[in-house]
Amino acid sequence: MKIHEYQGKELLRGLGVPVPLSRVAFSPADVRAAANELHKETGNPVVVIKSQIHAGGRGKGRFKEHPELGGVKVVKTADAAFEVGEKMLGNTLVTIQTGPEGKKVHRLLVEQGMDIARELYLGITLDRVTGRTTIMASTEGGMDIEEVAAHTPEKILRESIDPAVGLQPFQARKLAYALGLQDPVAGRAVKFLLALAAAYDKLDCSLLEVNPLVITGAGEVIALDAKVTFDDNAMYRHRDLEELRDPNEEDPSELEAKAWDLSYVKLDGDIGCMVNGAGLAMATMDIIQYVGAHPANFLDVGGGATAERVTAAFKIITSDPNVKGILINIFGGIMKCDTIATGVIAAVKEVGLSVPLVVRLEGTNVELGKQMLDASGLNVVTASNLRDAATKIVGLVAKAQVKS
Ligand code: ADP
Ligand code: MG
Repeated sequence: MKIHEYQGKELLRGLGVPVPLSRVAFSPADVRAAANELHKETGNPVVVIKSQIHAGGRGKGRFKEHPELGGVKVVKTADAAFEVGEKMLGNTLVTIQTGPEGKKVHRLLVEQGMDIARELYLGITLDRVTGRTTIMASTEGGMDIEEVAAHTPEKILRESIDPAVGLQPFQARKLAYALGLQDPVAGRAVKFLLALAAAYDKLDCSLLEVNPLVITGAGEVIALDAKVTFDDNAMYRHRDLEELRDPNEEDPSELEAKAWDLSYVKLDGDIGCMVNGAGLAMATMDIIQYVGAHPANFLDVGGGATAERVTAAFKIITSDPNVKGILINIFGGIMKCDTIATGVIAAVKEVGLSVPLVVRLEGTNVELGKQMLDASGLNVVTASNLRDAATKIVGLVAKAQVKS
């Protein structure tokens, strides 16, 4: 689960990680009030207005409605802050991470303008190769870290964190000196790194990225940006964090899937998939690729799905306008094939079927399931094995496209 920068910074502040003073704003009037308050508190009228969307690259992004305006804007007066607020709120910001359609901005962060001497990069995430949390740091902060990783990977320093003892002070010192910091700034960076690593652990993050981490003119070490992603599998331990969810930022199909307890991930192909079991779902996506097409989603209906959940899953798949064909691949173990058939028939009757559908059933009650599909009079093609199913659906989609 992702959260906004302002929410991430609030959590970090509470865990001893230094962040700038700021206020969240939902209207241009809020922005003006926040700018005035920050001016009073810091003695500095300069504030930065930052669009809050679940995507990075905002600084270099552009508003569709105001191509001269990026997602992060420095202003010198409260009036200017108000005007920028008017231009940003309700409008669409396009960044390299949002795709060309962009994302609508509903919230702004109004932050004290910082005097930046250096911009560094810090990121903590799980390294799946070592199976350990890894902290990454680079002197090349502020810009596209992906570029740095691709072209000059040696500029990214790494320290692997031992899960039993956490990030050790000697590791933090090693990173601080490798970043070219000197005492007393290095000492502050060490404190920062230890607090950040502890926050990652405490919040059960899967990603905690600070880009840029800045060294101010006065030598303070502060998180200027914060990207916090929680590990979904640990959310049950953090009921209080659930309220940070912003439904505006979530894919409606993924929300619906969550409500039905379905594992659904939207992808960008055109073959919708409904499968039981994560392994079989992965294999199904592989074989779709193997026969030359691309899956529109990952969907695991689970072992014990009811007919209602199958119906819900079917509706989610068909609501994706990219879906040009559907492949249902079920191995009836705990889940019985007739349950699947009941769900599919109910769903097709309810929402209709405008694209080809191939069903491959195997396992418990397979004959009954097939009979039900045949007797339903629906335009369903059955398949005998995985490859046959993938070939059939891809062929039918190609044929349907030639016709149209
Ligand atoms: P994004 O990563 O989405 O582009 P950032 O929060 O990293 O957004 O901001 C982009 C750039 O804007 C930063 O690299 C920094 O140069 C500048 N910036 C952001 N916040 C502030 C601030 N409070 N004071 C001064 N400059 C800022
Ligand atoms: Mg950033």
